[in-house]
Formats: sequence, structure tokens, C-alpha cells
Amino acid sequence: MIKDSLGDIIKKWESSYTYSIPNDYPAIVRLDGRRFSLLTKLFFDKPFSEKMQKIMSRTAYYIFKETHADISYVQSDEISLVYLPKNKERFTHSFGGKIQKLASTLAAQTTLHFNLLGDSVGVDKLDIQSFTSFGAHFDCRVFTCDNKENMNHEIAMYYLWRHKDCIRNAINQYAQSKFSHKKLQKLSIPQVLELIPEFDISIPLQSIYGEFLFRDKEKLSGYYSKVLIKSYDTIKEYLEGVNNGK
Ligand SMILES: [Mg+2]
Repeated sequence: MIKDSLGDIIKKWESSYTYSIPNDYPAIVRLDGRRFSLLTKLFFDKPFSEKMQKIMSRTAYYIFKETHADISYVQSDEISLVYLPKNKERFTHSFGGKIQKLASTLAAQTTLHFNLLGDSVGVDKLDIQSFTSFGAHFDCRVFTCDNKENMNHEIAMYYLWRHKDCIRNAINQYAQSKFSHKKLQKLSIPQVLELIPEFDISIPLQSIYGEFLFRDKEKLSGYYSKVLIKSYDTIKEYLEGVNNGK
């Protein structure tokens, strides 16, 4: 005989798939635009679109600020956020760190901002109605680092990985706009670079390096510093400052 109420039974099914980020670990988030190669083809200039960057940069800023992230890094169609564990009594991550809730909410917020901001960039080529009806949206991964004792190093490594990806993609996109697919086939990044005698200085720096936002611990929430280039060392130094409560 079933003693549980129907609600209890179904909650049990749900809880079998509920995983959470522990409160003493960071939540690391990557939001990634879906079908953005088609979106770019339809609405933005190639190989680099300042308008697309503006929308992504502003979207990242809103998400960073609204959700009180500690670091944001935006490059191409993706945004990487980190929420550090706080040294406060009874601290919990948002939604108790529940991965499903964090991922679905962050993907929804990012999608909303991205589509609303399409309107604000003032682009002739951008037909707002068809832009919004394209239905641009983001998927979201939420995970944490492997070892909390080594959290600063691991977070810095994560950003280094995305930063390198940004630079590699920028070089590839630039090369693809100049050379045939056949010529570039099977070439490594250093080999591609050899084909480009001088990097075109008209390429916006954000396209090459992406853009970081750091929450400023010294000031009230909402203040932040915005930078284009951060190395592994400076990211780690920032994290050490935050974790030591400096
Ligand atoms: Mg993508």
C-alpha cells in the first residue's frame, strides 16, 4: 500500500536528479549561444561584428550585476561567470546551489537580455522583428572545481582555457575571411599566423581578447572593473585578494 501522498512521490522522483554546488565551492557557469553561426550570418558583419560584441558585452554586464557574480568573461557568443563561496555565516549559493535551477534561470535571463538588447544597438542591417523572431537563446552549464583547497588556481585555469579559445577563434575567423578553406585546412594556429603578416589593427580588441568584469570588493556592490586582458597570474591574484577578504 502506498503511504506517500502523490506530491511526495513525485518530489522523490525530482530529487533523484537534483544536484547542488556545495556552499564551500565556487559555482562556475558557462552560457553559450545556440545556432549563433546562423544568427551571425543573417544579422551581423563577418568576421567581426562590433554590434554583436556590444550586445554580448551588455548582456554579460547585466547578468554579472543582476546575479552578483564575482567574475564575468565574455568572448564570442559565450559568457563565463564565477560565484565564489562567501566567508559568511549561513552562506548559500542562489537556489541553494541547485544546478538545474541555476542553469535554467541563468539561461533564461541571458536569453531575455540578449534579445532585448538587439533593439538598442542601432544597426541598419538589423531588422528587429526578424532578429527577435529568430529566437536566439543560450544553453548553460553549471559545475565546480575539483579541489576547493586549490580553487584559485583551478578558476584561473578555467579562464585561461576560455581566453586561449577566444584568441584561437579570432585568428581562425580572421584567416577564414582572407584565405580559402583549402589553404587553411589542417593548419595549426602558429601556421595560420604565419600567413598573416600583420594583425589587422582595425579588429576590435574585444574580438581578440574577450572582456572581463571583476567585482570590486573595495566598493559597494555594483561597482566593477572592466578589462580586456587578464593573465592567469592576475586572475589568481584577484581571487586571492577576494578570498583573503582584502
Ligand atoms: Mg555557441
